[in-house]
Amino acid sequence: MSAQPLSALTTMRVGGPAEEFVTAHTRDELVEAAISLWQRSHDWLLLGGGSNTVVSDEGYPGPVLLVRTSGISQVEDPDLAPGSVRIRAEAGHDWDALVAECVNRGWAGIEALSGIPGLAGAAPVQNIGAYGQELSEVLHSIEFLDAATFEPRRMLAAELELGYRDSVIKQGLEGVVLSIDLVLADAAVVAAETGPEAISEPIRFAQLATALGVEVGSRVPLHTVRDAVLRLRAAKGMVLDEADHDTWSSGSFFTNPIVTERFARGLPSDAPRFPIVDPGEAPAVTTFEELAEGQPLRVPTPARERRVKLSAAWLIEHAGVPKGYRLPGSGAALSSKHTLAITNRGAASAADVGELARFIVQRVQQEFGLVLVPEPNLYGIEV
Ligand SMILES: Cc1cc2nc3c(=O)[nH]c(=O)nc-3n(C[C@H](O)[C@H](O)[C@H](O)COP(=O)(O)OP(=O)(O)OC[C@H]3O[C@@H](n4cnc5c(N)ncnc54)[C@H](O)[C@@H]3O)c2cc1C
Repeated sequence: MSAQPLSALTTMRVGGPAEEFVTAHTRDELVEAAISLWQRSHDWLLLGGGSNTVVSDEGYPGPVLLVRTSGISQVEDPDLAPGSVRIRAEAGHDWDALVAECVNRGWAGIEALSGIPGLAGAAPVQNIGAYGQELSEVLHSIEFLDAATFEPRRMLAAELELGYRDSVIKQGLEGVVLSIDLVLADAAVVAAETGPEAISEPIRFAQLATALGVEVGSRVPLHTVRDAVLRLRAAKGMVLDEADHDTWSSGSFFTNPIVTERFARGLPSDAPRFPIVDPGEAPAVTTFEELAEGQPLRVPTPARERRVKLSAAWLIEHAGVPKGYRLPGSGAALSSKHTLAITNRGAASAADVGELARFIVQRVQQEFGLVLVPEPNLYGIEV
């Protein structure tokens, strides 16, 4: 067993040792290391920035492959719409460094995703999102090393079934994301009409619009959006800061539950709920535009029951678990700034984190009859 514990490699800062660590600094090393590990066994862990991974105190009973590649390049693409750029980030490139670089170059589309910890290769795994933007809106494709064939292949975003904090990879498609390609608006071109400064995509998130002092739908300079998002996130302990235990976390520990409208009607009337636009919910008739494009007549699908997204934070608070909540003798507590984040107050064990998570799940289930689902990837921890 290596002496290095996984607590040193994850942002929750819990987790015991691993059998062995392998580090890949280049794309070719990453391909080679993954194939050689698969040839031995499929029981190994791929780790990026460790910001969405929580490992038990016993550690990981196999090798851990650390993705430490880096680099951003522009990709020539004759099919690009005018005013867009296609960029490629290696899997190990720091996500926020990528956002900062794009903002500096005047490329719009990921500015609201500023400050999310972790590495580019993990971004499609749970389709990261924040403040009204989601990776799925800009992801063109990934280069994917498939565990079934050991062959790298290009997978288009549409093949990844990206959903709310979800993808085919999160659902079990085994392999390594080697790089991600994004298509962003070359805001310098857009800005030619509005002024000299590179401007953002329209602001969609009401809280961000309020912080910026603009209406939802407005466009503002890219740097202004990035700065505002970083300020909002820091106030919630959502930007990593060694000195602030509220940030020793995996971000949101639970996803916002998606339930049927019928179930939601049984909840208190002040429980926030947000309508879900179901991608399967196509209009029953084929539009003239679709016919003109040569698309076949659509066969109407039976209407699915409408669904809404609930606020996990509201459910937790109203189940009697407030910000800062700590079980007696535990080293873990809810963040004092954000109900959804389970945090390590300095000396938490993975067992403490698991115990608090289970307590929250139980409280919410008893109070509202639904089971919260953890967002981070848990290894050796049952919730
Ligand atoms: C303070 C804080 C705030 C956060 N805020 C947000 C937020 O606003 N929105 C959001 O969506 N998330 C948020 N997160 C969660 C996290 O930052 C993201 O999920 C991030 O993309 C994880 O990246 P990582 O490199 O740290 O992943 P890791 O934790 O290293 O890995 C996560 C999973 O992806 C797999 N994986 C990693 N790299 C690859 C690869 N190259 N190929 C295939 N699989 C891979 C791992 O095996 C693991 O299963 C937050 C986390 C923290 C700590």
